[in-house]
Formats: sequence, structure tokens, C-alpha cells
Amino acid sequence: MTMEKNMTIPIQCPQCCSTEFEKKENSLETDFVKCHLCGHHIMLEDLKEVGVEQAKEIAINMAKKEMEKMVKDFAKRFNKK
Ligand SMILES: [Zn+2]
Repeated sequence: MTMEKNMTIPIQCPQCCSTEFEKKENSLETDFVKCHLCGHHIMLEDLKEVGVEQAKEIAINMAKKEMEKMVKDFAKRFNKK
């Protein structure tokens, strides 16, 4: 019997952007997980690194939006004077 099952990891496959991976239960950091969609093999450790990069990008985009909002609000207030 195989312990492998499909599970959703909130990290996108670097090949196809799918978040479904075939992953063993209690996987080690050095174990490979397989993308359910394109079959791309990636070490769990590397996948987590990809996830950190993706999270950084999301955080940067959110910060950018916040900044734009602040600049707009600031410009509004400034123009009122
Ligand atoms: Zn994939």
C-alpha cells in the first residue's frame, strides 16, 4: 500500500503553478514531492524556498499597494490646502 496522496500545499509548482502535490505523510525536508499536474519533482526543502520567494513577492505587492494608497491620501490632503 502506498502512503502517497494528493495534498494541497499553498506553494505553487515552479513549472505549472499548480498547488497540488503528491506527498508522503511525514515527509522529510529532503524528500521529493511530485506535482500532481505536471509531474515535476522537487525537494520539499526547495519547494519551501520557492514558497518563501512567492510569499515575499506577495508581501512586496501588498506593501506597494499600501504605499500607493498612502501617497494618494497624502496627495489629496496636500491638494486641499
Ligand atoms: Zn507542476
